[in-house]
Amino acid sequence: MLAAVFHGSRDIRVEDVAEPTGAGPGQVLLRPHWCGICGTDLHEYSVGPIVIPTIAHPLTGASAPQILGHEFSAEVVEVGPGVTNVAVGDLVSVMPLVTCGQCYYCRRGLNHLCLTMACVGLSYQGGGMSELAVVPASLVTVLPEGMSAIQGAMVEPGAVAAYGVDTAGVRPGDTVLITGAGPIGALASLYAYSLGATVYISEVNPTRSALVLSLDVGTVVDPTRVDVVQWVRDQTGGIGVDAVIECSGNESALQTAIGAVRAAGRISQTGLHTRPAAIDPMILSEREVTLAGTWCYRVTDWPRIIDLISRGRYPVESIVSARIDMADIVDQGFETLLSPSGDQVKVLVNTRAIT
Ligand SMILES: [Zn+2]
Ligand SMILES: [Zn+2]
Repeated sequence: MLAAVFHGSRDIRVEDVAEPTGAGPGQVLLRPHWCGICGTDLHEYSVGPIVIPTIAHPLTGASAPQILGHEFSAEVVEVGPGVTNVAVGDLVSVMPLVTCGQCYYCRRGLNHLCLTMACVGLSYQGGGMSELAVVPASLVTVLPEGMSAIQGAMVEPGAVAAYGVDTAGVRPGDTVLITGAGPIGALASLYAYSLGATVYISEVNPTRSALVLSLDVGTVVDPTRVDVVQWVRDQTGGIGVDAVIECSGNESALQTAIGAVRAAGRISQTGLHTRPAAIDPMILSEREVTLAGTWCYRVTDWPRIIDLISRGRYPVESIVSARIDMADIVDQGFETLLSPSGDQVKVLVNTRAIT
């Protein structure tokens, strides 16, 4: 079968690999339909391997070369012995985190912080950018009637963004600033709006600004033209916003977040910073600001996010800016997403039309 395989930095090949042998006990064999390219995949491609193990992963034994793809929908083609939650023919979305179930965090329901966590498509025997994949049946959730495979592939980034917004404790009527309108910031904007918040978005890139503006969920400003802290204060009677979702992973955006949040407000650090940032913790003290990090999502979030999407309350598919074939994954996927012109937001790969 064909799969998109990570061999090393700037070396992803669509190539022939051995098919999985079938679904073992508690497993399902899947035929992936659509798979998103994520910021993590881009990091692996440009400067990796980072997350992808070069020696056997302690939980799964996987190591590079690694089949990519952790944001995907799929059709069930075989169920292993003992599987009752899905049937052959079901369209499903995959929650890709594989956890030990036994460590300090797993035993407290914090599986996404598992001490030996692996991820399908990064540190696992298989991934979504492949003709076939075997995963534990416990990771798949059946999509309801009327929900598309494209929407199913967007549940994973949708869950990341939702967890970021939820961590900031956003409630109906709150004011929320979202810094950065890449895929996660755009999804966070949709989700915060669906919760009934007034949403402000800061974004530098014109393509991303235009896309998030087209979602019609909030006001968009360019931080290179507008003093965002002052502007936010002007919008909120001088007080500041109730919550900030920092989705850019950028130092100046984090400083904007600290300046724009009201006293006793909350900042959720959802974007990943790749270098240390200088902030003034005295501001956190004297204004009782909470700065909270988020990592992935709760592993139990899939049914809730799927329900919101299927009822039209969380239109995650509206941020998809390109749909490409697997054969074009490097040129039209990774290279386009990394290009300085930055004219793409979210690229989905059609894993069925493999040629
Ligand atoms: Zn991802
Ligand atoms: Zn664990």
